[in-house]
Amino acid sequence: MPLDRDVELDELYREIILDHYRSPRNRGSLAQPTVTGEGDNPLCGDEVELGLEIRDGQIVDVRFQGTGCSISQASASMMTAAIKGLSLEEAEALFEAFKDVMYGADEVDAEALGDLEALQGVRKFPVRVKCATLAWNTLEEALEAYRKGQG
Ligand code: ZN
Repeated sequence: MPLDRDVELDELYREIILDHYRSPRNRGSLAQPTVTGEGDNPLCGDEVELGLEIRDGQIVDVRFQGTGCSISQASASMMTAAIKGLSLEEAEALFEAFKDVMYGADEVDAEALGDLEALQGVRKFPVRVKCATLAWNTLEEALEAYRKGQG
């Protein structure tokens, strides 16, 4: 499936997104996840399932599975690559930084975002922002469930 034609992105960003879409990082499922999450974006038909292994407040492993458009699946791949090895607090800070990009903040800490920066062009297409943030919202719900379980 080609990158959706209604999303016109800079060539470099397009390449990064296509690379993650074609060769997703951390795709699959964990044998014994600490916590899992499921999310969907009915507007587009995107679905993402996450499994996280959390140890001592750190995300030591993460896998995702899903179906949907190239933006949603590339974003999930980028997210897993970005959060692996981070503490829960760092992962949440990264989500905040990513949301800033998606919702158009002027000042963005692009360095912290790595490949995720490639998704900034998506913000010109508000409908597609839901595709780009699906994996992150799913992560947030999974972390909330984890914290409740730790209660
Ligand atoms: Zn989508």
